[in-house]
Amino acid sequence: MKNRIFNRTGKAAALLMAAIMALSGCDYSLSGKESSGIVQADESAAENVKKQESTGKQNIGEPVVLELYDVMTVPYMRLQAYGDNADEALALGEEKIKSLDALLSTGNPESEIGKLNASGSEKLGDDASFLLKTSLDFYRQTDGAFDVSIYPLMELWGFTNLYDAGLEEAIEEAEQKVKEKAKKGETGSGKESEPASEETREAPSEADIQEVLKKVDCSKIEFHEETGEVTLPDGMKIDFGGIAKGYASQSVAEILRENGITSAIMDLGGNIQAVGRKPNGSKWRIALNDRNKGGFLGILTVEDCAVITSGGYERNFRDAEGNVYHHIIDPKTGHPADNGFSVDASVTIVCENGTMADALSTAMYVCGPEKATEYWRAHRDEFQMIMMTDKNKMYVTEGIADDYQSDYKYEVIH
Ligand code: ADP
Ligand code: MG
Repeated sequence: MKNRIFNRTGKAAALLMAAIMALSGCDYSLSGKESSGIVQADESAAENVKKQESTGKQNIGEPVVLELYDVMTVPYMRLQAYGDNADEALALGEEKIKSLDALLSTGNPESEIGKLNASGSEKLGDDASFLLKTSLDFYRQTDGAFDVSIYPLMELWGFTNLYDAGLEEAIEEAEQKVKEKAKKGETGSGKESEPASEETREAPSEADIQEVLKKVDCSKIEFHEETGEVTLPDGMKIDFGGIAKGYASQSVAEILRENGITSAIMDLGGNIQAVGRKPNGSKWRIALNDRNKGGFLGILTVEDCAVITSGGYERNFRDAEGNVYHHIIDPKTGHPADNGFSVDASVTIVCENGTMADALSTAMYVCGPEKATEYWRAHRDEFQMIMMTDKNKMYVTEGIADDYQSDYKYEVIH
C-alpha cells in the first residue's frame, strides 16, 4: 500500500506540471507540488528533448529523464541526467528511492518505521539510523522545532489519511487543463491559482491535542547509534516526512556523481537537487512559485545544491468557519505552526546538503521568521534561505542575494 497523503489539488497540480512540460517541449520542470521551484527551460534544452525523442540516442547534450509516480508520499518525481552513463545511473537512483520508500514509509506496516511505530522498538538499518541521528541533532539545534516524534499529532490532525482518489482521474484532469492552456497559447511554468484546500473537516479539540502532545518529545527516544537499536516511549511514533525526501535527493545525487554524472537536476516533490551545472556550463535556474499571485516569487541560479521549500499551502484543510489548518506542526503547541509563517507562507532552504535543507525547511517554518533569522546568523556558512512571511514580506539571506532575482521588493538579511 502506498502512503499517498497529498490532497487532490496538490496531486493534480503536480501532474499538470508534468503534462505541461511534456506538451510544451521544455526539458525540465521542477515543480512536484504547487509550492516548489521550477527550472526555466531554455530553447536549446527544449531542442535537445526533441532530438532525444526523435533519435533515441543520448550524449552529454541530451537528457535522460526518469519519472516516478507515487513514491515516498510524492505523487510525481522527475529526475533528469546528462551523459553517456545517465541511463544506468538513473536506474540506480530509482532503486535507491524505492528502497527508501520501502524502509521509511509510515503507512507501510512492513517498513522499518512501520514496525518501530507498531512495536515501540526496532533495529534500524544504515539509512533510517542516519536519519534518526540527523533528526535528533536538528531537534537539539533548533530548540525542539524539528521533532520527528510528531507523528501522533499528524494522526490527530488527520494528515496521514491516504489519498484515495484515482491517479488516472487526476492525470486526466491535469491533461485537460494543459489542453486548455495550450489553446490559449501559454507554455505555462507558472502556478495554478487554486483554493488553499478542497477538504472540509473539523480541527481536533484542544483537550485531545494536549493529550496527544504528551507523546511528542524526541528527547525521550532511546537510540544506540552504533547498533541502530531504538526504543520509543509508550505511544510515541516517528515520522521522517520532514527530512526523508531531502535525504533521498542527496543520496541520488551522490549515486549519480559516483557514476560519472556531472550534470543532472531532480525534483522529488518540490525537493530540488542539482548536480553540477547545465551541460552548456551555465547554472540551473530555479523559479519559486508564488502562491498568492501566481507566477514566480523569484528565480534562483544554483549549481551542485539542494533547493527545498516548505509551505503551509502544500497540505491543509478547512473547517466549517473557513479556518485553514496546515501540516507543519509546532511541537510546542500541538497546532499548525503560526509564528509568522502560516498557510500562505513559504521557507526555501538552499544548501549543498539535501538532508539538512529538508530538515531546516520544516524547522525554520516552525520557528517563524525572527527565530529563523537568528538561527541563520548562527549557521550562516551552512545554508541560505528565502522566506515569504504571512504578511507577504520576502527576505533573502546575503549568501544567495547575488544569485536571486525577483520583481518583488525583498530585504537582504546580513
Ligand atoms: P513536505 O513534506 O510537504 O514537502 P516539509 O518538508 O515541510 O513538507 O515536511 C512536512 C512534513 O514533516 C509533515 O508532513 C510531517 O510528516 C513532518 N512534520 C510536521 N511537523 C514537523 C515538525 N515540527 N518536525 C518534524 N517533522 C514535522
Ligand atoms: Mg522539510
